[in-house]
Amino acid sequence: MTARPLPPELSQLELNRATPLIIVDVDEVLAMFMRGFERFVGRHGLEMRITRFALFENVYRPGEALPIEPELGKTLFEAFFDTDGEDIDPAAGAAHALDSLSSQASIVILTNAPGKSRDARSRWLARHGFPYPMVMNSGPKGAAVRALADLTEGPVAFVDDLLPNLESAALAAPAAHRFQMVADERLRPLAFSDRERHRRIDHWPEMRHAIAEALNIVRAPG
Ligand SMILES: [Mg+2]
Repeated sequence: MTARPLPPELSQLELNRATPLIIVDVDEVLAMFMRGFERFVGRHGLEMRITRFALFENVYRPGEALPIEPELGKTLFEAFFDTDGEDIDPAAGAAHALDSLSSQASIVILTNAPGKSRDARSRWLARHGFPYPMVMNSGPKGAAVRALADLTEGPVAFVDDLLPNLESAALAAPAAHRFQMVADERLRPLAFSDRERHRRIDHWPEMRHAIAEALNIVRAPG
């Protein structure tokens, strides 16, 4: 298998080598992506019935028993990022948790959003209280997590909603502490997890404490 090239912005990142590092996904971790996409498809006369840990397979034409065809799903996904990619709510407590951790840890956002959404995504992050460097990845995240982890001698935490990304990080950067978060409460019971391998925490106040503990960060005030 040919290795994918690493995101170019990785080479421009300068992190304090002595500081712990927290690597955080966006969609379903900092951002309520499913809800935003649901509003978007609703404006296009479609509805979501969330019965699977999937995206397009939960989108239906009203009254129909089968979900929309995958091709239409992909078209809608692309269109969402063209026009509505900033219309996503932040996950409750995420900004406060990261802000409090950021006094003693570097924070890097690692997202797999389409490349064309880079500016919109940066604006969204800034507007919702996530003023941290963003790396746009595609495909499994392990190689990027490893490259980021190599920028510090401190401990590393990685937070994502998707089991394949957590598995990929476990293989490429086994020393990193891995946490799974699923921000949308409707997706929580449907998400694929391996709680023995990756700690599962779905709320930011609890996640904040778990990360602080794992990274040996003295609890920040507030
Ligand atoms: Mg995600």
